[in-house]
Amino acid sequence: MTQPKHNVVIFLGPPGAGKGTQAERLAQDKGLVKISTGDILRDHVARGTDLGQQVKPILDAGQLVPDDILIALIRDKLASMDAVRVIFDGFPRTGAQAKELDVLLEELGAPVSAVPLLEVPDQVLIDRIVDRGRQAAARGEAVRSDDTEEVARRRQEIYREQTQPLIDYYSARGQLTRVDGVGSMDEVYGRILGSMK
Ligand code: ADP
Repeated sequence: MTQPKHNVVIFLGPPGAGKGTQAERLAQDKGLVKISTGDILRDHVARGTDLGQQVKPILDAGQLVPDDILIALIRDKLASMDAVRVIFDGFPRTGAQAKELDVLLEELGAPVSAVPLLEVPDQVLIDRIVDRGRQAAARGEAVRSDDTEEVARRRQEIYREQTQPLIDYYSARGQLTRVDGVGSMDEVYGRILGSMK
């Protein structure tokens, strides 16, 4: 079977669900480009660009960066691609972002292929995030400034308010698949692959 030219996967799930790790593996296996908006924004902060200086306090507080900034970033990324073969990790996060992504994809003739939702209970999420911070610190690595319990809880609240409605948005179109995100990385990855067949 020939591969479709375009492949657009949108990873949904709360902060700490493991989207980044799973998206990375899926990207490598399927030859897709992972677009992680959190990584892109943190890179701007690390390099001290104008954008980085603008968004740093927002990231530190666990708030969402304004939609127009994200949409411009994504528009730029996709514009340079001939075939749109991507995994979105952390985007869209609001209804406005989802609608704008639809417009962009329509312009490019690249429909959404799959929307796996990684489901993980709240307390497990907080434990994972706080743990991630501690482990990075123990390895002497930079700790994400938003990986503290207080900010992690705020990110969860914002997820519930702003991002959870996207579950209905994609499920109404029959694109969403629910994946149990509790288990080892391999187990969860196996479930993701299974959900995409
Ligand atoms: P997590 O999913 O663990 O919260 P991310 O790396 O996806 O981590 O995002 C980190 C931060 O980057 C968010 O708390 C937010 O401030 C900002 N951010 C990332 N993606 C978006 C987006 N699509 N819209 C608005 N803000 C975003």
